[in-house]
Amino acid sequence: MGGCVPQELTEKLDPHRLAMRGTNTAQPRCVALQGTVGKAAHCGIYPQRPSVCREVQPSWEFGAISPQCDKARLAHGLPLLTPQDWPDPSPADVPSIPQDT
Ligand code: SF4
Repeated sequence: MGGCVPQELTEKLDPHRLAMRGTNTAQPRCVALQGTVGKAAHCGIYPQRPSVCREVQPSWEFGAISPQCDKARLAHGLPLLTPQDWPDPSPADVPSIPQDT
């Protein structure tokens, strides 16, 4: 799925693992992160982001807490997301239940 992470944005951790540049520090900031955390920030390589990034879900977007999301938000002094932060699905997004005829 998606594309490959641009190699120039990675660094070697050991012979078998890579990390995004900027993430292996005491105060990590991924080199691909654009903008200001808490105001307007986004992944600059979203379609090409690594698999570890794809696995992190925002808390409650899909009905469950995400410990990694909560930890990151707390580290930046941001409030935790709640179910109320997400819109109710529109009727078009809700699958219909087949009716017996
Ligand atoms: S989602 Fe994007 S900005 Fe965030 S850590 Fe992954 S590559 Fe970096």
